[in-house]
Amino acid sequence: MAQVVIVGAGPTGATMALLLIKRGIHVKLVEASRDFKRLFRGEGLMPSGLNALKQMGLLELLADVPHQSFDAWEFLLSGKLLFKVKEPIEPNGRPCTTVSQPHLLEAIIKQAETYSEFEFIPGEPVRDILRSEERVSGVKLGSGREITADLVIAADGRNSMIRKQAGLNLTQLQNNIDILWFKLDSSSWPKSENIFYSILQERDGFGLFRASEGQLHIGWGLHSDDNFDWRHIDWAEKLAATSPSWLAEYFRSHRETITQPLLLSVIVGRCDRWSIPGLLLLGDAVHPMSPIRAQGINMAFRDVIVAANYLVPWLNKSEIDLSQIDAVLPQIQQEREPEIIRIQQLQAQEIAQAEKLRNSTFLRWGAKTFTLIIRPGIRASWLRRQKQLRQGVTQVSLNI
Ligand SMILES: Cc1cc2nc3c(=O)[nH]c(=O)nc-3n(C[C@H](O)[C@H](O)[C@H](O)COP(=O)(O)OP(=O)(O)OC[C@H]3O[C@@H](n4cnc5c(N)ncnc54)[C@H](O)[C@@H]3O)c2cc1C
Repeated sequence: MAQVVIVGAGPTGATMALLLIKRGIHVKLVEASRDFKRLFRGEGLMPSGLNALKQMGLLELLADVPHQSFDAWEFLLSGKLLFKVKEPIEPNGRPCTTVSQPHLLEAIIKQAETYSEFEFIPGEPVRDILRSEERVSGVKLGSGREITADLVIAADGRNSMIRKQAGLNLTQLQNNIDILWFKLDSSSWPKSENIFYSILQERDGFGLFRASEGQLHIGWGLHSDDNFDWRHIDWAEKLAATSPSWLAEYFRSHRETITQPLLLSVIVGRCDRWSIPGLLLLGDAVHPMSPIRAQGINMAFRDVIVAANYLVPWLNKSEIDLSQIDAVLPQIQQEREPEIIRIQQLQAQEIAQAEKLRNSTFLRWGAKTFTLIIRPGIRASWLRRQKQLRQGVTQVSLNI
């Protein structure tokens, strides 16, 4: 039976580990952090991500993991409702759902730890990759421990150290925004529906939603041409000034509960090659995703399913043929890359639409003045664009 080392216990690494050990493959999962409670982890899952969890037999875990489904999306321009779409959008479909990632990751690791083939190594960053005869043959940890493996899977996220060590080049795609993240108390939130609000006022905009553990979360789009210094402004006032009156009132009366903003730098890109002999990169390590329309975790789960389909037949043989493992690695890229390219294009289009409104006083005036006339058209156009962002582009089925 093969020995696999997975670097990084985010959504990619944790689910990959569980799929492999459930099929008798020996896995060591190395995670730099001591626990999963890092400052920020995205948590929106689209129907495609929920479907991937179901295929992996993990949807039942949600019963014990904090989560909240959305009831609707609302788009507000200059304080006025542009359009609203109810969830679930697809008849008989699943609504977009926020899931507490730290709790989900913990639950996955707990399940994995019931298998003797699994070793979890938290609090140990991988420092280096080991090579033997032109092939990656393991990893070296910060402590100096060396772990040899028949295959190394790098799931170490957007700043992947393994990617750099392996000499794989990340082509970054254009990205004009970073995100400032805030949380605030929701105990007296006036809304019974759980709505994801997209709010634009002049050139400022943000998204607001009630997250998996009940707090309100705000992602503020930070632009290089902003005419204010985000570190030195009164954020309760800034958020209030960008909001319709009912929300402005809420921000002002809850100003004490608004957390300091956390700057989340957004990297978007793709590697030309997802593997070299002995090493496969998956998830954000090979295609860091923009946060727009919650795609990264969904894409990570779908990478994992496709990788397992190709790898398991060769990893669970009693006699391991390394050349066969290396031969299937490019096929994983071949199957996954078209979807990743398309989803990154769709995310860019979503940003471009918002930027068009942000950069044109005339368009904003027109949209606000003629809302009733244009509402059906822009709503229909938004819905058309969401189909692949919600359901994925290609057919992904776990068949091992
Ligand atoms: C602001 C923002 C909001 C987002 N919101 C969403 C959302 O709502 N929904 C969604 O689907 N996606 C969202 N994303 C994207 C999503 O967070 C990522 O696409 C997803 O987390 C990728 O999963 P991953 O497992 O590949 O990488 P990560 O989640 O980054 O996990 C990588 C893991 O590797 C570990 N690691 C790193 N280096 C080492 C090392 N040297 N040794 C050992 N371990 C290491 C890290 O500690 C980490 O646990 C968002 C992204 C941003 C920036």
